[in-house]
Formats: sequence, C-alpha cells, structure tokens
Amino acid sequence: MDKIKFRSERCKGCGLCVIACPKDVLKIGAELNRAGYPVIEITDMESCTSCTFCAEICPDVVISVFKKMGDKKGGK
Ligand code: SF4
Ligand code: SF4
Repeated sequence: MDKIKFRSERCKGCGLCVIACPKDVLKIGAELNRAGYPVIEITDMESCTSCTFCAEICPDVVISVFKKMGDKKGGK
C-alpha cells in the first residue's frame, strides 16, 4: 500500500513539503496539473516513514499519509 497519496489537482508546487521531509523523498515534478502548477512527487516510497510532516505543513491539504496497520499486535 502506498504510504502517501496526493490530491495533485490541489497542489500549487510551493515546495514546502519538500523542505519539511526529513527523508528527502519529495520533489516538484515536471508534470503540470489542470491549474498549470507543477505537482509534487515521491521519489522513494520505501524510505518514507509516514511521519506526516509533509501533510501537516501543506497549506492546500494535498497530502494524505497512511500508517502501516498491525504494528501494535505483534505482527510484522
Ligand atoms: S510522511 Fe514524512 S517521510 Fe514520508 S514523504 Fe511525508 S515528510 Fe517525507
Ligand atoms: S506543500 Fe502542498 S501545495 Fe506545496 S508543493 Fe507540497 S503538496 Fe504541493
């Protein structure tokens, strides 16, 4: 399952999430959304820790972060 998802049509390409990400896995891509803004991409989903910093800093609520289920039940 993807750890993060983007509502790309809302992204304004401001880059705040890129700065906020401690794992440096976000970048402004070459693709433009319908409003003409470059949209955010993740370069390495495996390295994302689901810390939510990117989602918290985004002023346009573009990013949703999903945490792995089952960590508290002793499963992997
Ligand atoms: S959840 Fe954390 S590690 Fe993952 S992309 Fe966002 S800021 Fe980076
Ligand atoms: S902070 Fe939000 S609006 Fe800005 S580049 Fe990141 S996802 Fe897009």
